[in-house]
Amino acid sequence: MQQFLSIVKKCYNFAKENIRIIVPAVFALVSVIAVIVSVNSCDLTVAYTFSYGDKTLCVRDTVDFNAAKTIIKMASATGDVENYIDEPVFTKTVAMRSQLDNVNSVAETIIENTDGIVVATILRVNGEYVACVEGETSLDEYLEKSRTRYDKDGSVSAFVDKITTEKAYYPKSQVKTLDEIIEVIDKLSVKTVSTVSGKYNVAYSTTVIKDKAKAVGYRATKTAGSYGVVSYTDEVTYVNGKESSRERLESKTIKQPSNEVIVVGTAAISGGNSFRWPLAGGYFYTMTSYYGDGRGHKGWDIAGSTGTPICASMSGVVTEASSGWNGGYGTKVVLDHGNGVKTVYAHCQKLYVKVGDVVTGGQVIATMGNTGRSTGPHLHFEININGSAVNPEIYLGKR
Ligand SMILES: [Zn+2]
Repeated sequence: MQQFLSIVKKCYNFAKENIRIIVPAVFALVSVIAVIVSVNSCDLTVAYTFSYGDKTLCVRDTVDFNAAKTIIKMASATGDVENYIDEPVFTKTVAMRSQLDNVNSVAETIIENTDGIVVATILRVNGEYVACVEGETSLDEYLEKSRTRYDKDGSVSAFVDKITTEKAYYPKSQVKTLDEIIEVIDKLSVKTVSTVSGKYNVAYSTTVIKDKAKAVGYRATKTAGSYGVVSYTDEVTYVNGKESSRERLESKTIKQPSNEVIVVGTAAISGGNSFRWPLAGGYFYTMTSYYGDGRGHKGWDIAGSTGTPICASMSGVVTEASSGWNGGYGTKVVLDHGNGVKTVYAHCQKLYVKVGDVVTGGQVIATMGNTGRSTGPHLHFEININGSAVNPEIYLGKR
């Protein structure tokens, strides 16, 4: 205890003798503590100032500038804007927290003071960047005009793709003019759906009555045929004005077709036989094309082997017997049976008759070949009445 009192006394004496030094030292120590305390926990903070364009900004840390650059980059679509942003010179300082610039306002200042970058409106198709125009432009008016460009009364239209617009920062050198972006908008694909109504005719069928009392070539209408009529309502989808699909919503028969009935004569002409099969019997054959097939086939195509004998279908006079192209018929024979009735035998190999010969039904007049417009040995057989080809089925039955 005695020892402790002695130390306290020594200290007191030291303080008394050095009072001029201790007081300022204590003041200095308190000031330093005060500054440290206020910088760390009060309103003041270490900060960095820098100039950008004509503005001076203050940030908490130099990395805030990079964060602002990242914001601009993120909002620049495909535009490479980074190269246009200058790196500032930072000065360390102490600043009030409330006066610090936040990252977003730093980004705005950079945009306002960087000539190479502008605020733009970007057009995206299915999320993909397509083009952009300078300024915060509402492209709605132009998009609406483009979307409805194929509209008719009551149609519903939509863009085929998902079209979106958004604000972005973009290099000034890469933005398009309003006219250029309107041109892009006017080419966006549009789907238009319309309801279409109309009528169409339904063909009638023909019943043939054979009359043995009338000569071949006779043809009379017993009952006139008439078309049926059907009304319909379709939902039609157009892409850029062209029909792409159609769905029948409603169909109604207004009038049933009524059958035509005709009478044809089958009696022999001038003492000969009536029509007979134009090939010699016993040979294998295949019907490869009927009357009316494709674009109005004028007769029957009967396929077989080259050299199969071809017979006169009825007695008559040879009016043509020639080889060559003959308009695609190749080597052919034409027989005149009188009364406006003729038969034609085309694509033949050899001819056994000449013009002026009188032939009887069943007589061999030529052999089957592959001449003219033909892709294999066959006989093209026609029956012509008063210059028009008729269906051989009328006289020879179904084959
Ligand atoms: Zn043919």
